[in-house]
Amino acid sequence: MVMSMKSVEIIYRYGAQTEPVRPRPVDSGAARQRLDEGNHAFATLLDSMAGDEAVARRVIQVDPRDFGLGGGVGESPKQRPFAAVLGCSDARVPIELIFNEGPNDLFVIRVAGNGLGSEVLGSLKYAVEHLGGSIKIIAVLGHSGCGAVSAAVDIFLDPKRYLELATSHSLRSILDRILVVVQASAMRMDEMFGPDVVHYPGYRTALIEASIVVNAALAAYTVDKELKTQACGEIKAVYGVYIVESREVWAPHRGTAMWTGLADPPADIESFAELGNAVLHSDRISSILKAK
Ligand SMILES: [Zn+2]
Repeated sequence: MVMSMKSVEIIYRYGAQTEPVRPRPVDSGAARQRLDEGNHAFATLLDSMAGDEAVARRVIQVDPRDFGLGGGVGESPKQRPFAAVLGCSDARVPIELIFNEGPNDLFVIRVAGNGLGSEVLGSLKYAVEHLGGSIKIIAVLGHSGCGAVSAAVDIFLDPKRYLELATSHSLRSILDRILVVVQASAMRMDEMFGPDVVHYPGYRTALIEASIVVNAALAAYTVDKELKTQACGEIKAVYGVYIVESREVWAPHRGTAMWTGLADPPADIESFAELGNAVLHSDRISSILKAK
């Protein structure tokens, strides 16, 4: 039997006069739709290798000027991303690639645990205020199996390990922010499933995965509140969790049964309880919790 060889090609293509450059999204709704469709295209790329087709190919049209081609000496293209994305530094989550985007499309900030420190917030404010209004949406993207959130959960479950961090101010500032979320998620699990939940075989992983969702939602919620006071107009903050295993963005969509694509953060702090409940009741988290 001959095993068929399959491969994936993702191509950045520019130059052909007949191929129009993709238009920029005009508002936050169009920007969200483009990110969702881009992620869907990326996630399903492997599935498209049906039958004897040996190569799954995705072409991303780019403007050659965004690669520094076609301008004169010393001329650089104007920065004009349509979205800002705050993601984790994790090497398995390449932001442009998973949203099917190219150069000059996204203003990307990556930091371990995708937390909203002051330099991150400053970068976002800069992008919103100084890029000529090109940014229509800000997306916070957590991801499954996040090492920073896992470290925070392990400290929560074994607090004496916190002492190991005593001399590391930089690491502590990342983990402290996540610990608040982990604590809240653990309380919600206790309320929902009873104190015995800590003995479920999947407790640690479920706590990590539930915290990842709430951590991203909280950052999006905070960005939204911070930017509203800055009179930044129609920019929206959304969030999601990139599932490394399926390559899809996952998040609860309030009032619907939908779990794919970027979602709105809760409207107020009280609504975070509702978000926590939805996440813990989701098929994904409950199957992790009950896994042997
Ligand atoms: Zn991570």
